[in-house]
Amino acid sequence: MHDAELTLDPSDWDSFRVQAHSALDMMIDYLRGVRDEPVWRPIPDPVVQRLSAEPPEEPEGLERALRDFQSDILPYPSGNLHPRFWSWVAGNGSPTGMVADMLASGLNALTIGFDDSAATRVDLQVLDWFKRLFRFPPESSGLFVSGSSMATIVALAVARTAKAGYDVRTHGVGRERSLLVYGSTETHNSVHKGVELLGLGNAHLRSIPTNAAFEIQIDSLVRAIETDAAHGRRPAILIANAGTVNTGAIDPLNAMADLASEYDLWLHVDGAFGSMATLTREPPSNLAGLEMADSLAFDLHKWLHQPYAVGCVLVRHPTLHRDTFTAEPAYLEVPDGGLAAGPINFSAFGVQHSRSFTALRPWLSFKTHGLRVFRELIEQNISQARYLDGLIRDTEYLELLAPTSLNIVNYRFNPGWIEESALDALNRRILVELQEQGIAGPSSTRIGEAGRFSIRVCITNHRSRLEDFRHLVDASVRIGLELLRDAPQDGSA
Ligand SMILES: *Cc1c(COP(=O)(O)O)cnc(C)c1O
Repeated sequence: MHDAELTLDPSDWDSFRVQAHSALDMMIDYLRGVRDEPVWRPIPDPVVQRLSAEPPEEPEGLERALRDFQSDILPYPSGNLHPRFWSWVAGNGSPTGMVADMLASGLNALTIGFDDSAATRVDLQVLDWFKRLFRFPPESSGLFVSGSSMATIVALAVARTAKAGYDVRTHGVGRERSLLVYGSTETHNSVHKGVELLGLGNAHLRSIPTNAAFEIQIDSLVRAIETDAAHGRRPAILIANAGTVNTGAIDPLNAMADLASEYDLWLHVDGAFGSMATLTREPPSNLAGLEMADSLAFDLHKWLHQPYAVGCVLVRHPTLHRDTFTAEPAYLEVPDGGLAAGPINFSAFGVQHSRSFTALRPWLSFKTHGLRVFRELIEQNISQARYLDGLIRDTEYLELLAPTSLNIVNYRFNPGWIEESALDALNRRILVELQEQGIAGPSSTRIGEAGRFSIRVCITNHRSRLEDFRHLVDASVRIGLELLRDAPQDGSA
């Protein structure tokens, strides 16, 4: 009987349409009013309870499920939609990106590449856009992935193929001398993770010291490479940071590209967010040479404001890239025509097989807004960081803890009469208050060898305005003084 056959399609498309429109309206209202929300609020216990409930066996209906979303999920975001959210390196997304995501989910493309679909063509088109933006050769290969962590794993896998000197896919690592990897002490932990997963071993990742600007010390790097080579070891891979997560420092890429060619090393650039500064009218001088990299990892969900999660890897050597991942099982034989005769097999360039149609986000966003505004937003964030840097210099009781070179500002409250050890605890408290009072969402780090606790403001936010930074500075001083006033007067905080 026809009626007995099941499907997930609505039985009444008209009422589905109404409910789906109301879901869209809910998000539009939320985004429109997000500035008036607290940056963050703790999740009440009853909500936490409800969010640990068993899955329902029987239907609740979309209307009821959407009401639950509105009451239990929507009010408790991480805060990263908010104009005063500056934790970690987080993006805002955008209303346009939300529409792109809805369309992509509607299409439900698998984006494997050999599916001859427009989604595959868009994926390749947007990859070409990024090759041009980063001045990589047109024949380079690339892949949209979940983020820079995955991009780095893919890139390091290709580097391993390139430098092993034997068929590492068949024989595994360790048949010859270990491949050595070099990066500064500021290198992101995703590189460590990649080195571990690929069997290269963290003991073979050399941590090179940085200068006062937290950029890799080229002299120390050269010494480390030469010492290893002199001992018969195998220098193989150089990691350059284009924007460190602690302070936004950019390693001198030109000098590192020269070293890579002199010592025959693979140059991988972790450009998760900082590489985007190359799109501005006056890119930081240390970024010159970015186009010389053998591989580049960058995120679209950070400083390009695309919805989570999407990053990209570009590789200068397409054959090595394919040789690292390709497989030709019978069920993926390429036919002469039809739906499986698409232009490329993306799974031959990375870890994932099925992928979501993430390239639609930048495609729709760039077409809607034009590239120029994305360039200008990066410039705007960099000048906001300079503005905040200046405010902190001019504000009694606050001090900078690191030079501001890009979009990250590190500071703390320091009235001048408190001992160093107590300052850490006091500033930790200030940060929690800033967040719990819903005022602002910076994060923290520890700066330099002294490891001072720092309130860290990373500006990858297209909603921030100058007034937001004044608000942060005023609140930091106010909370600092209140905490001191309420603390027992024994010299500690
Ligand atoms: C965020 C970040 C990463 C990791 O990227 P994901 O997209 O979170 O996987 C790596 N390096 C740097 C410098 C980052 O800021």
